[in-house]
Formats: sequence, structure tokens, C-alpha cells
Amino acid sequence: MEKGEGVVVPGDFLGTSEEFTMGKGVYGEEGNLYASQIGTINITDKRAIEVLPAVETPPVLKEGDVVIGRIEDLRDNVALVSIACVEGKEKREIAASTQAVIRISNVRKGFVSDLQQEFGYLDVVKAKVLDAKALRLSTEERDLGVLKAMCTKCKGRLKRKGDVLTCEKCKRVEPRKISEDYGKGVV
Ligand SMILES: [Zn+2]
Repeated sequence: MEKGEGVVVPGDFLGTSEEFTMGKGVYGEEGNLYASQIGTINITDKRAIEVLPAVETPPVLKEGDVVIGRIEDLRDNVALVSIACVEGKEKREIAASTQAVIRISNVRKGFVSDLQQEFGYLDVVKAKVLDAKALRLSTEERDLGVLKAMCTKCKGRLKRKGDVLTCEKCKRVEPRKISEDYGKGVV
């Protein structure tokens, strides 16, 4: 079980079905229990393990909404995004620190083997809501993906050059799942 800040994301291993019974926000696979939503772990007195939603207020997002957010954490199979706003609906408020996930299978069309090649820590991304309840996002379409990124070495500004980004200062080249709106100043 990943401890970290106590937050689990879909797919995180929680324990085995010998240790616990399955509570809310949990799914089982071959005797192992995994989180099916973002949240914090709770174990009831009846030894059920459950994942309580991290967001207290009900999500105001709808399926198909396009959101702007920031990559807060990169795990093996998911990127954690904190959502800043819904595109085109600036007046619609989003609960502070609403967190969503982009699974590795929803990053781009085609197979992705390494999430670190697609996103960087604190990248600004544009993504579409696939599932408003589980807060799952996709960046598969051409206009979706990274809008703004920093060089991981020198924190310089990264400029788009074809399919990759290059640092203006140190000339480092970094791969990303780039939105076609990269660097257009939409954020
Ligand atoms: Zn640099």
C-alpha cells in the first residue's frame, strides 16, 4: 500500500481479501483489493476496507467537460491532476483542490509504456472528463494534452519543436503528450 500523503488513486493496491472485506470505492481482482476511486483509506470495525472520496463537495464536472489543470503527481500508471477550471465556463466554480486522474491508457491514442515520457511534474494540461464520478480524464484528442511545461533540469521555459519540447535556456529536449494549443497562451 502506498502511504505517501494518505491518498490512494484508482488501481492502488490496498490489501488482500483475506485481510479485509470489500467496502465502498474498492474492487477485487484475484484475491487482491484495489482502490476504484481517489480518496483516503478507511477500515471499519467489521474489517471492511473502503476508500472515502477525497472531495467533500459533489463534483460539478460533467462527462465531456474540458478542464485545465496541473500535474501534481506521476505514478506508474496514473497522473494526478488538480483541476483549476472548466474551459469556456470561467464562472463555473470548481471545488478547491478537485483532483482527477489520467490513466496511462487514456493519455494518447496508441500504447504508452512510460507516463514520464508524456507528462512532467507541474505541467499545465488540458483534458476531457471521461467519468465525472470517478474523476477520470483523457488527453487523447489532438487539442488535449500539455499546454505549458517547465524544463525538469533548469526550470526554463519549454518551447514546442514538432513533437517534442526544447528548453530555451539549456537546450534540453523533453518529450510530452503535447496539445496542439501548446504555448498559445490559452492559460
Ligand atoms: Zn533547461
